[in-house]
Amino acid sequence: MSPTPDVELRERVRRIPGIERLLPALEGLPPAYLVGGAVRDLLRGADAVDVDIAVEGDARSVARALAERLSAEVREHERFGTATVRAGDLGFDLATTRTEVYDEPGALPRVAAASLDEDLARRDFAINAMAVGLTGDDLGHLYDPCGGLSDLNDGVVRVLHDRSFLDDPTRLLRAVRYEVRLGFRMNSATESLARAAVVDGALRTVSGARVRDELLDLLGESQAPAGVRRMHDLGLDLALHPALDSDPDLVASASLGAAAIGADPALAALAALCAAAPAELDLWLADLHLPAAQRDSVARAARVGPRLARELRAGEHQPSQLRSLLGREPVLSLALAMAMGAPSEPILRWVTELRSVRLEISGDDLLAAGVPEGPAVGRALDETLSRKLDGLVSGRDEELETALAVAREAAR
Ligand code: ATP
Repeated sequence: MSPTPDVELRERVRRIPGIERLLPALEGLPPAYLVGGAVRDLLRGADAVDVDIAVEGDARSVARALAERLSAEVREHERFGTATVRAGDLGFDLATTRTEVYDEPGALPRVAAASLDEDLARRDFAINAMAVGLTGDDLGHLYDPCGGLSDLNDGVVRVLHDRSFLDDPTRLLRAVRYEVRLGFRMNSATESLARAAVVDGALRTVSGARVRDELLDLLGESQAPAGVRRMHDLGLDLALHPALDSDPDLVASASLGAAAIGADPALAALAALCAAAPAELDLWLADLHLPAAQRDSVARAARVGPRLARELRAGEHQPSQLRSLLGREPVLSLALAMAMGAPSEPILRWVTELRSVRLEISGDDLLAAGVPEGPAVGRALDETLSRKLDGLVSGRDEELETALAVAREAAR
């Protein structure tokens, strides 16, 4: 298909923040194209979020030339010969147009330089397989060899060949993400291929880290609950782990709870998926290779969320009791507790007000007053803070008096 000049598209490209500096800098360099999600989003009339540029030439030398012309910083990535360029508000990724060969299903592909059309044909779905020319007279020309524009108009997610989900089963999660984000649907051939790939155990060939990236992207969507419902419909949840519980309502409340208290909604949704069988899912979670702190808080939230919800539902709690119950919990546990029916008032009160309350005195004040070094110091401060939270102690003098009394009591 020959490229179609498109005045409107050219104008939309020109409205990408920072692009007015990039376009003149591309002059005299190998042909460059805007590719991937940015093209899809410009055609939908939405803002292009990530600017991905493909060049028919060596991406890293183009990146270096651009960095010099734009006084920008460039970071080169070894594995796929790509580079990231950043100059103030302008940031973009550059890649050489390439083919990808999958030696084994699920593994990362071998790449080789290729034409733009071949580069578009290696992509996940037709709606993501369009390009727009950025160089000279080509500015604004749409390259659409796979029929992406018509899919975009029809609301269709469609793979480009029959082995697509087997070559890269993370595309199963990507397909669901685009369905729920855009309100689209796989066409029936694509859905049949997806279901067949799930039944074939395709997801078992993918590393946990790659599943993690796509799963968290899906769970981070505002439509994550619909995504979880669709995962279940396609058998994706079961394929990831039979103990995952795809309860869209729980995922919805976990994400909302997380947003209300400053926790990560995608991680809260992941904890919600694990909450029905946290012990069984421990190894699966570990295999996702989340950063250790995130993995620990997801696992903990899944484990303690139900208990916290029960205890908070059981009756009113003094501030000091809230501290004993919630003080050592990551915010993710609190988000999950809310999702599982804990009253939100005590949790919000803890997060917004109580957890930042501190004593005016410190251990040094107790040592200076003659309390010997040892565990009694910590215990006295702890007890004093509890009393302060409950409104029984106020001001520095009362704090010191209380802490000294507690320390003396402990020494007896
Ligand atoms: P989004 O689509 O989430 O808005 P994006 O377009 O930046 O953002 P990325 O995951 O960064 O999405 O992918 C960029 C482009 O690379 C996609 O639009 C698609 O063309 C291609 N791509 C990404 N992942 C795959 C994959 N697993 N298989 C084939 N092509 C892919």
